[in-house]
Amino acid sequence: MSVLTIHNPATGTVLRELPADDATAIARKAAAARKAQPKWAARPFAERAAIIRRFRDLLVERRDTLALTQSAETGKPIAQARGEIGATPGRIDFFLDHVEAQLAARLAKPEAVVPAIGAPGSTEEVVTFDPLGVVANISAWNYPWFVGTNVYVPALLTGSAVLYKPSEFATLTGMAMADLLHEAGVPDDVFQCVVGGGVAGAALLEQDIDGVFFTGSYATGARIAEAAARKMIPVQLELGGKDPAYVADDVADVAAVAAGLADGAFYNNGQSCCAVERIYVHAKIADAFRAAFVEAVKGFVMGDPGEGDTYLGPLTREAQIGVLEAQVKDALEKGATLLCGGKRAERPGAYFEPTVLVDVDHSMEVMREESFGPIIGIQAVASDDEAAALMADTAYGLTAAVFSRDRARAAAVLSRVPTGSAYWNCCDRVSPHLPWSGRGHSGLGSTLGLEGIRCFVKPRAWHLRAPA
Ligand code: NAD
Repeated sequence: MSVLTIHNPATGTVLRELPADDATAIARKAAAARKAQPKWAARPFAERAAIIRRFRDLLVERRDTLALTQSAETGKPIAQARGEIGATPGRIDFFLDHVEAQLAARLAKPEAVVPAIGAPGSTEEVVTFDPLGVVANISAWNYPWFVGTNVYVPALLTGSAVLYKPSEFATLTGMAMADLLHEAGVPDDVFQCVVGGGVAGAALLEQDIDGVFFTGSYATGARIAEAAARKMIPVQLELGGKDPAYVADDVADVAAVAAGLADGAFYNNGQSCCAVERIYVHAKIADAFRAAFVEAVKGFVMGDPGEGDTYLGPLTREAQIGVLEAQVKDALEKGATLLCGGKRAERPGAYFEPTVLVDVDHSMEVMREESFGPIIGIQAVASDDEAAALMADTAYGLTAAVFSRDRARAAAVLSRVPTGSAYWNCCDRVSPHLPWSGRGHSGLGSTLGLEGIRCFVKPRAWHLRAPA
C-alpha cells in the first residue's frame, strides 16, 4: 500500500502519513457509490436539502478549526483560510435556493397543453431531469472549499453520489469535508473521499462513473478530457488562467487602483486561478501606477501562516519556486527590470518574495505562461487597442479586467478579449450567481450560476399522447 505524506509548506515538517487508495480500494468505493446512489436520488428533495443545510451550519460552527487544518497543509494564511470557509456558506445558499426549481418538470410548450390530453392532435411535451448518477470530482488545493462545494453541493442536491478526490496538497481538508457531510446526514457511500495523488485520480477515471468534474491545470485537464471522451461522459474542466488587467489613463485614483490590483495579484500568494497575472497600464499614468503598485506590495506582511496579520505565506508546492525563478531569469535576460523580489525569501519553508517586473513584453514567459505565484509583469501601452490585442494574446481565457471611469470604454476593450468573466473596476472575484467558465485552455463548461446546476442533470424528453 502506498503512503501519502502531508507536509507543512511553512516548515517542511510532516503533518500526517496516510494510506493512499490503490486501484482496488477505488473500485470498491465506486461500486459502493453506484449501489447507494438510487436510494439517495429517491429521497425527497427537501430531505437532501435539509442535510446540506446542516452541513452548511456545521461549516459555520467549525470554521476556525477547519481553517487551522487548511492553513497547516496548504500554507494559506489563517485569515485567508477563515475568509474562504466563511464565504462558502453563501455559495451553498445559492444552490439551496435554486436547485429545486431546476429539477422541476417543465412543460416544453405550455400553450399546447391547454386542451385535454387525448384531444385530437394534442401531445403533451414535458422535460424532466435525472441526476447524472455517480460523479467523480477531482479537485485542487488553492481554494479547496470553494472549488469543492461548487461541484459536490449541486451534485448531492440533484441526487448524484460523489467520489471526491481532493488534491494531495489538501487531503486533510478533503477528509474533513467528508466527515462533516456524513455528520450532517449524507450516507457514507454517497460521498466518499478518495485519498491519493495523480495515480489515484487516473484510477478514479477508470471506474464506472457518469461524469467528471475537474479543477486543476491545463495539462491534467487535457488528460482527463481524453479519458472522459472514451467513456462518453460529461466532463467539466476548471483550469488555469493568465488573467490580464488594463488600467486606462482616465482612472480617478491611480494609487487606489494600484493597491486593488496588487491585492488581486498577490492574495493567496497569487495561487488563484483568477489572480491578476499581467497588467497593462496606459503610458500616460505608467510611472505613477508602478510606484504606487510597488508601495502596496512592500506593505504586504510575509510570515507564519498561523499568524493573524500574515498576508503572504509559503507557496503550497515547493516545486513552483523553480517555475518562478525561471520566469524571472527569462524576463531579465530579455530586458525586463526588477522593481522588487525576484528570489526565494531568506527563511525556512517554501517562501518566494513578492516580485514586480516592468519593461516586460510578450516574448517573456512571465507575460504568457501561468505563474501561479507572487509575481507580476507590468507593461505600458499606448492605447486601448494595444491593450486589447495584448490581453487577447494568450491561450487562456478565464477573466480579464479593465479599470476606467468610462463603462463603455471598458466594455469595448473587454468585448475583444475571449474570456469567461469580464470585470469593470474590479478583479479576482467570483459570484455564486454568475456562471464561472473559461475559454480556450481555461476550461470547458461552467460551475456556479444556474448553468452550474443544469450540468448535474440529464434531461429526459417526454412525448405523451393519451389513447384516442
Ligand atoms: P493539477 O492539475 O496538478 O492537479 C489537480 C488535481 O488533478 C489533483 O487532485 C491531482 O491529484 C489530480 N491529478 C493529477 N494528475 C492526474 C491524472 N493523470 N489523472 C487524474 N487526476 C490527476 O493542478 P493543481 O496544481 O492542483 O492546481 C493548480 C491549477 O488549478 C492551476 O492551473 C489553477 O489555475 C487551476 N485552478 C483553476 C480553477 C478554476 O476555477 N478555473 C480554480 C482553482 C485552480
